[in-house]
Amino acid sequence: MGELTLRKSGDTESSGARSTVVQMPGLEICPSCDSAYVQALSSSRQKNGRLALELRCPECEVRMCVAATDAQVVAYEELCDAGREEMKRAYDRCVAESLEALAGVLARALALDLVTADDFAGPLRSPVVRRLR
Ligand SMILES: [Zn+2]
Repeated sequence: MGELTLRKSGDTESSGARSTVVQMPGLEICPSCDSAYVQALSSSRQKNGRLALELRCPECEVRMCVAATDAQVVAYEELCDAGREEMKRAYDRCVAESLEALAGVLARALALDLVTADDFAGPLRSPVVRRLR
């Protein structure tokens, strides 16, 4: 897999003294804490054809520079796309459940005749607010 240089947060590229070279199992895995949520910060094409990536672990704040092959980057991007799709599905489920719950509350309020035109007049014109003033 890719060879990379690790820099602890706060190190500068020129310091170099605390940099270490390690192997990464995949670009998404942090070699420092094993988090599976490594994020790409920047990329540029090197003369040797590899992509120079700056990566960051959101959990331990390690920053890494790695020279990756196109295949490694494609595999990483496919994982990112799959994760993004999973989050979108979870978000959609959450929104649907929330709307269903709100619809259930509104249906119950309508059935109990608790909703009147005043409820749609705006918050400052609500009879409850008027009573509180
Ligand atoms: Zn980490």
